[in-house]
Amino acid sequence: MILRDCHSERLKNLFKAIRFIIKVGFDRHDTKVCFLICYLFFISISFSLFSQVQYPQNYFRSPIDTVIKLNGNFGELRSNHFHTGLDIATGNHEGMKVYAVADGYVSRIKVSPYVYGKSLQIRHSNGYISVYGHLRGFNDTIAKYVKAAQYANKSFEVELNPRAGEFPVKKGDLIAFSGNTGSSQGPHLHFEIRDTTTEIANNPLLFDFDVKDNERPVIYGLTIYPVDETGMVDGLTSSKKIKIIRAKGNYKIAETPIVNGNIGFGIEAYDSENNSNHHNGVYSIELLLDSNRHYFLKMDKIPFTESRYINSHIDYPEKLKSGKDIHRLFVEPNNRLGIYKDVVSRGIINFSDNKEHEIIIRAKDYFGNTSVLKFKVKGRVGDSKKGSLKKEFDGKGNAFFDCRKENKYQSQDFLIDLPANVLYGDLNFQYSVSDSLNNTFSGVHHVLKKNIPVHDYYDMSIKVKKDSKPIQDKLLIVNTSDGIRNVKDCIYDNNCVRCKVRVFGDFKIAVDTVPPVIKPFNIQNNKNLSLQKSIKILIDDNLSGIKTYSSTIDGNWILMEYEPKKKMLFYDFDGSVAPGKHIFSLEVTDERGNTTKYQAIFFR
Ligand SMILES: [Zn+2]
Repeated sequence: MILRDCHSERLKNLFKAIRFIIKVGFDRHDTKVCFLICYLFFISISFSLFSQVQYPQNYFRSPIDTVIKLNGNFGELRSNHFHTGLDIATGNHEGMKVYAVADGYVSRIKVSPYVYGKSLQIRHSNGYISVYGHLRGFNDTIAKYVKAAQYANKSFEVELNPRAGEFPVKKGDLIAFSGNTGSSQGPHLHFEIRDTTTEIANNPLLFDFDVKDNERPVIYGLTIYPVDETGMVDGLTSSKKIKIIRAKGNYKIAETPIVNGNIGFGIEAYDSENNSNHHNGVYSIELLLDSNRHYFLKMDKIPFTESRYINSHIDYPEKLKSGKDIHRLFVEPNNRLGIYKDVVSRGIINFSDNKEHEIIIRAKDYFGNTSVLKFKVKGRVGDSKKGSLKKEFDGKGNAFFDCRKENKYQSQDFLIDLPANVLYGDLNFQYSVSDSLNNTFSGVHHVLKKNIPVHDYYDMSIKVKKDSKPIQDKLLIVNTSDGIRNVKDCIYDNNCVRCKVRVFGDFKIAVDTVPPVIKPFNIQNNKNLSLQKSIKILIDDNLSGIKTYSSTIDGNWILMEYEPKKKMLFYDFDGSVAPGKHIFSLEVTDERGNTTKYQAIFFR
């Protein structure tokens, strides 16, 4: 096994230091000192080398048989998360054979209508786990095992953790077939390499998969941000987008922005590997201020617990407004992403002189192809506004929230309780309430703005306006723009509805007394299904969402797979239904406990 060290820059510096020592030793004509120092240095280098993270090279084979084309790479910016693997193209169709990338054993199999869909993990003896997601299905042996577990648990969703020895695999064994299950938006194979003990996702390219890239990343957007009340760009306190000009493969701008106070920079960039025309993510971004590194990020590892910090990393308001993904090259106080290295002053630059300063931004892909954006800004003394966040509650729904502490706000009919560290920075809490048209349960509660991101769930409680006893358990809080997205676990308690919420914006109490809708797709009462391979049923819910479903034939539970993207349930006739008359039944229940039942006689 070849080991590759990925800290070549540190090595380069060490060699520089050795050259310096040798020079000093010889300058002093003291060879003994020189050799002693050199010896000590070589020992420290060896120690340094072995203390680095080393990634096995040529250990893993490709999970597919054809050339790897990437529809997505590691660390690219996705909605509410960083992408933690490679999206391998499967020719726009499902059913491509998927192979074990090395010897090991199947250590986890998960079936879910969401996220990874049908997925499988293999544990290898070298300290890593390979993960295969959005699968259509598994090889025959695993498929049988999964189906048995689904029938035993009477559930489509299962998570199975086979022991070592149950499903051993050899490098190159067929394990599964590619698909489009879970939150996949088109057929592909999602592939990850995780650390076995920590389950932290590593950039698979570190393991030398057969991916090549000779093209440089493309930088296509520059934004300059006044970071706080002290910052100004060209005399204004709002951020400024600046047009980038491509010149000889590198980039510049046509103006010299005037900056003063605390300033941050942001860029938009993409990279495409060979064989791919997808706009995938860049591997590293570096910002130099007057030739000194001021900010650096590198996409080597991302723990799943850190992935949601993406909403602090990017320009979140811009993402909501225009869908643009801007890497902000400065870091908020509570952004704990580990991808940043050598960040000075959280990446924020204070301009307070009348001099010109050079900014260099380098975007690299994994293979070292580099694009450089170079420009000058002019500093300015003085006229920056001095201000700071209000630190006191003003009695009118405004309060200062310290992001490191728990923050609470309470009024007569509203309560919010944010645990410590769910905000990325300090802020002035703003709240108001207005009457809601056609809503007898509560007014509309305006909680900050929806473009302020929150890292995790917090408690929100809204008082119910009128006596609504008969339907207490049907009440829930909804976000007026997004419904129940980012709202969960609502309970009625002491005339209030209390829920876990993960966004800001406008909220009100709603009621869900409407049961789910069941629409038979290819079955009806007394139909002869002899020639059909499956039963398909459309299901939907108006508000709170589908919580459970269960279906039987002649009273025996049957496995119906759920595909939320198509709002469809499928049952595949597998030979267990004998010719003759049968009764099919389905029961679907939503989050608020409203149930719809469907029954049909069919013939086989
Ligand atoms: Zn993916």
